[in-house]
Amino acid sequence: MRAILFHEHGPADTLQLVTDFPIPEPGPGEVRINVKAAALNYMDIWVRNGWPGIRLTYPHIPGADAAGIIDAVGEGVTGWSAGDRVGIDPTLSCGECAFCRSGWQNRCVRFGILGEHAPGTYRDYLTIPARNLIGLPEHVSFAESAAASLVFVTAWHSLITRGGLRPGETVLVVGAGGGVNSASIQIAKLAGCTVYVVGSTEDKLAQARELGADVTILRDTEGGWSRAVYQLTAKRGVDAVVDNVGEATYTHSLRALARGGRLLTVGNTSGAQVALDNRLLFGKHLSIIGSTMGPHQDYVTVMNLLFKGRLRAVIGARYPLEAAADAQRAMENGQHFGKIVLEL
Ligand code: ZN
Repeated sequence: MRAILFHEHGPADTLQLVTDFPIPEPGPGEVRINVKAAALNYMDIWVRNGWPGIRLTYPHIPGADAAGIIDAVGEGVTGWSAGDRVGIDPTLSCGECAFCRSGWQNRCVRFGILGEHAPGTYRDYLTIPARNLIGLPEHVSFAESAAASLVFVTAWHSLITRGGLRPGETVLVVGAGGGVNSASIQIAKLAGCTVYVVGSTEDKLAQARELGADVTILRDTEGGWSRAVYQLTAKRGVDAVVDNVGEATYTHSLRALARGGRLLTVGNTSGAQVALDNRLLFGKHLSIIGSTMGPHQDYVTVMNLLFKGRLRAVIGARYPLEAAADAQRAMENGQHFGKIVLEL
C-alpha cells in the first residue's frame, strides 16, 4: 500500500512516498480502514519538525484525521462490518483506567493522538480500535468527516465542556484562518454567543464573517486589537477569549477579557512560554482553562452536529496523497482558510 513517512525530523522534504508499505492486520477489538481522506493539522508539522523529548518509532507516518471504509474486522468486534463508511476519533486511550472508565478518554493515563503517539493517517490502510469509530451518513463526505474530526472535538471540548459558554455571552476568537478557529467561531455562534474575531487579513476576516462572526478586527489595528475589543464592548471586555496562539497574544487576550472572564486554550502556534501580568489575573478575577482533544462523547456530539448541518467542515484545499509534502508546505505558509485535505 501507499504511505507517506519520514525517517528523521526536518522540513517537508523529509516526507517520502512509499508504495510497498505492509498492509496492517486488525488486532482484537480493532478494525482496518481503507482510508479515503486524511486531513492535515498543525500537529503534523510540529511532529515532523520534532521537539526536545519527542520519541517516535521510525519510519513515522503523520496524520491524526481520516475517514474511510471498513475493510476488515478484528476478533471480538461487534456492530461494525466490512463496507461501513466511518469517521475516526483521533484520541487514543486505554479504555481501562479510571479516567477512561469515567468517560474522560482525553485524560487517559496512556493518552495519545493518532499520528503523534502512533503511526498516522497518510496511508491507504490503517487499523484502529472499534471504540474510536463513528458511522458516517451517506450525505457526509469522507473529506468533510476527516476535516472536522480533530478540530471540532478539540474546539467543542474547550468552548462548551470546559469553557461552559452560555447564550448571550461575548467570545473573542484570536486568529481566523486555522481549523480550530473556524470550528470555534461556528461553535460559539451555535451556543448563542456574540462572536468577535481578530485576524491578520481582510480576506480571512470576510471568511470569518461568513462562518458567523459578528464583529471582526484586523490584528494590526491602530492602537492594538485588545484596545479595539475594549472600545467595541463599551469598555467591558469579552466573557471568553479563545487563544491558541500563545506567546504572541496572551497579554492582549487577558486585557481583552471582562472581569470574571476566562481564557480558553488548546495550543500555542507562536510559542509555549508565555509571560503574563499576574495583576490582570487576580485583579480582574480571570480564569485560564486548558484542555487537549476531547472525550469520545464530545466527539459523537460534535460530529452529529456536522451530520445535521448545524456545523460545517471548512475545506481550504485538497491534494492527492502523493502531494502530502506540498500540502504541508501550504499549511506552513498559512495562506489557506480552513482545512487542507489529502484525498486517496
Ligand atoms: Zn485510559
